[in-house]
Amino acid sequence: MSETTLPQDDAVSVPAGGSRHDAATAELARQAPQVPARVPDSAGLRLLAVHAHPDDESSKGAAMMAAYVDAGARVMVATATGGEEGSLLNPAAGEIQQCHRDLTGVRRQEMAQAAEALGVEHVWLGFVDSGLPEGDPTPPLPFGSFATLPLEQAAEPLVRLIRRFRPHVITCYDESGGYPHPDHIMSHRIAVEAYHAAGDPERYQGTGEPWAPQKLYYDRAFNPGRLRALHWALVEAGIESPYEERLTRWEEGDRPDWLTTHEVTTQVPVGDYLEARDAALRAHRTQVEPSGFFFATPNDFLREVWPYDDFVLVDSRVETSVPEYDLFAGLR
Ligand SMILES: [Zn+2]
Repeated sequence: MSETTLPQDDAVSVPAGGSRHDAATAELARQAPQVPARVPDSAGLRLLAVHAHPDDESSKGAAMMAAYVDAGARVMVATATGGEEGSLLNPAAGEIQQCHRDLTGVRRQEMAQAAEALGVEHVWLGFVDSGLPEGDPTPPLPFGSFATLPLEQAAEPLVRLIRRFRPHVITCYDESGGYPHPDHIMSHRIAVEAYHAAGDPERYQGTGEPWAPQKLYYDRAFNPGRLRALHWALVEAGIESPYEERLTRWEEGDRPDWLTTHEVTTQVPVGDYLEARDAALRAHRTQVEPSGFFFATPNDFLREVWPYDDFVLVDSRVETSVPEYDLFAGLR
């Protein structure tokens, strides 16, 4: 199966006069009372989250991972690159000399601390950061960097990891990468490739016993339904909303052309794990400002308005029905 067989937005039916987001949000709102407060016992189950750079795992799906670790699952984060092209994004971290001498080394330590905060296992897939090319025309990507590699070469370490760790569920970014960073798009491509290939004995020979993961999800951490719900709740409470500008632009039709519209199918209750997410984010001290965007919405507020991490079920080899509230639904 190739990427092109995955469900596309065109397949989503939308009621007259409504957008896909509205339809999805309305549907989820109708279901809301049924959302359980916690994920079920998950002993014996394994989840693999595929990410591009150290810190991505803490800003997308982090509370979900902490929740499943607490419920007894094994959770593995695979980070494709070392984040070598990143720069110091939190000025306060600049007081530490090592951040100027060896930012990549610091980021490895940060990643270890973040993994500890979430209780997850972690592997580096060993690729070199491609950086986000800026300018007009955009400069070529660094030679040999992750996003420039042939797909099979880039996917091989992930197939090897899947055959060793044997995850039931894989989460990754959608085809836009969540935002159009070449490493994020490549992370999507290797995750989809490895999901479909790891169970096929004819493919990637010599990388271990075949293992077919059972479900594939895309992350929807920044879906418009969530942003809108949080925005209006903040406005109502008289708290400054960090989403105002973005939502206004979207409402005026000024949406970036890479913005995808996959419907959320699966909401994982994470209300008890928002502090674990915060601790993981703070561990990435060179990348995340303690007073920045990710901390702009108080956790008590999130627990009230949107205590979920949101995902799109893209492929399942087991029986399940959406909406779901558990990534392992159908696997117990
Ligand atoms: Zn990234």
